[in-house]
Amino acid sequence: VGTTVWREFDKARLYTADLESALHYLLRVELAAHRSLAGAELKTLKDFITLVAKLLPGRPPVMKLLEMLQEWLASLPLDRIPYEAVLDLVNNKMRISGLFLTSHVKWVGCQGSRPELRGYPCALWQLFHTLTVQAAARPEALVDTGFEGAPQAVLQTLRRYVRTFFGCRECGKHFEEMAQESLDTVRTPDQAVLWLWRKHNVVNSRLAGLPSEDPRFPKAPWPTPDLCPACHEEVKGLDSWDEGQVLVFLKQHYSHANLLDTYSA
Ligand code: FAD
Repeated sequence: VGTTVWREFDKARLYTADLESALHYLLRVELAAHRSLAGAELKTLKDFITLVAKLLPGRPPVMKLLEMLQEWLASLPLDRIPYEAVLDLVNNKMRISGLFLTSHVKWVGCQGSRPELRGYPCALWQLFHTLTVQAAARPEALVDTGFEGAPQAVLQTLRRYVRTFFGCRECGKHFEEMAQESLDTVRTPDQAVLWLWRKHNVVNSRLAGLPSEDPRFPKAPWPTPDLCPACHEEVKGLDSWDEGQVLVFLKQHYSHANLLDTYSA
């Protein structure tokens, strides 16, 4: 691991440090690749920030900052804004109000055994799963956002985020193909949770054994039996999923109660 200190962590838990690092990276690195935002791109950013502001079980100062960003984006009379304006808002609100979002990445559950492994893509998946689970657990959080009563809306927003902003273009293309194939079959918030879980496992199995895999974190169907024995059942001698149990597990794993502030400043 070179000079970097390894942070001990529990793979059955989520870490605030990972989710906040993902937000920092998303706002200050990934968006910065777009010099200005307009039209469908700007709409995608607004919708994504609305979801995060309403659904993330984050710490109060971070949630307050996201809420300000969401309100500012919603109130903009312009249909094109320079990226610098988004950055200024984030930085100024932080300076004036003392609200704080980490200004560097610190990966915990998403640490890689080498710096180029894991990190942001890992934490982005965690953020996405957290959003689908929270939308199912707390539908009232989406009242008056235009997302209420539209069970595909959260996934469609994640899909547009990936297509528009995710720096890994190849990932965007694959995700888009999966979405085109079956996203329209999702009818309830619970089905949205399971759709994302299923597709993430498709990605896991596609990437198993490739050089992008961290040898310390081999790709395997998730949750593994040690994390969720009840999720696995044997049908005619073959390992298969008990999807009812998987749903229960996902709702617990991506819940507020499973989030640890250890390692967060
Ligand atoms: P990740 O796969 O990033 O998973 C992060 C954490 O989520 C795991 O540690 C585990 O706790 C949990 N988890 C694992 N599986 C599931 C599941 N099924 N449901 C719920 N939670 C789960 N890389 C490519 O090379 N090609 C691609 O096409 C590609 N597509 C991607 C698409 C998206 C939308 C994203 C966000 C990433 C994509 N990536 C792709 C990156 C890749 O999926 C991994 O994020 C990266 O290789 C790091 O893997 P990891 O070991 O940290 O685990």
